[in-house]
Amino acid sequence: MRFASIGRYVRVISVIAALFVLLAACGQTSKKAGTDNDDKKASETKKEVVVYSSRTEELIKPAFDAFTKETGIKVSFTTAKEAELQERLKAEGANSPADMLITVDAGNLWLAADAGLLQPVSSDVLEENISDNLRAPDNQWFALTMRARPIMYSKDRVKPAQLSTYEDLSDKKWKGRLGLRTSEKVYTKSLISSMIASLGEKKAEAMIEGWMANDPIIFDSDTDMIKAIEAGQNDVAIANSYYLGRLLKEDADYPVDIFWPNQDDRGAHVNVSGAGITKHAPNKEGAVKLLEFLSGPVAQKSFGELNLEYPVNENVELHEILDGWGEFKRDDLNVSELGKNQTEAVKMADRAGYR
Ligand code: FE
Repeated sequence: MRFASIGRYVRVISVIAALFVLLAACGQTSKKAGTDNDDKKASETKKEVVVYSSRTEELIKPAFDAFTKETGIKVSFTTAKEAELQERLKAEGANSPADMLITVDAGNLWLAADAGLLQPVSSDVLEENISDNLRAPDNQWFALTMRARPIMYSKDRVKPAQLSTYEDLSDKKWKGRLGLRTSEKVYTKSLISSMIASLGEKKAEAMIEGWMANDPIIFDSDTDMIKAIEAGQNDVAIANSYYLGRLLKEDADYPVDIFWPNQDDRGAHVNVSGAGITKHAPNKEGAVKLLEFLSGPVAQKSFGELNLEYPVNENVELHEILDGWGEFKRDDLNVSELGKNQTEAVKMADRAGYR
């Protein structure tokens, strides 16, 4: 019995010992697994974000560098023309290394979303920093800057009191005095799209016919169009404000000024630059962090200073040149409308003979 009892004690003790060994081993295994997961998580959060951008390096890199400095997350980017980037995303499909697409013009952002290249993002930071009308209704893309497209005029030959609306540029008093960007440019397509949304097709078309009846000079570049005002070729034009801003940086007395049209009704036409997270983003978490950063004060200030565009974040101070143009009422139409009406805008321009 005793022996038997001792034997039993020994057996119990060895079972307990074995359990200890087992538990210790388990503990070690689970601890090891835990360490691996943490490492993996840490490396994934710190994994670089890959951006495809139709905006040039000098406009985006300072904001990316500031993001890396703050978060430790690297950003690698490829810049190319808009159409090329969208084609590349389509061809790469689920294998695309890209996490984010940055581009200009709501028309282009809308096309990217329409082609299924982007995905919706839910973020309180983005919703706080970027107002409703400056992002896609389904949050597939977000504006990062506003690009106002007002009327510009010769300070020597035009009095601001003679100007009022985009529609009024179809009045015959502007015959032979009007400069317009080609209708092939997305800026023009988006401007016409906004007219279709606000005025309806009939009035929008009548306006374009009126512009054409005024025998406008058609330009391939906003800068050339503004310089033509300086040179006396035309007296008024419709152009993005930052192009005049660049000329004013070189010469504060440049003889062209901005007139904010349609201040008694819908406001001046505003387009955007913006970004969306790609459909197959390998690092969505990092990309959302970057997008949030780009809507924040540091990046917003950098965009404003580098290209004289208007920040979407209302808490950011304006560059002094923009400040000098004063406050204005902007068309609060949801910018996604600019994309939706592009096809109709092109047909309308064609019918009116606007090349
Ligand atoms: Fe531009």
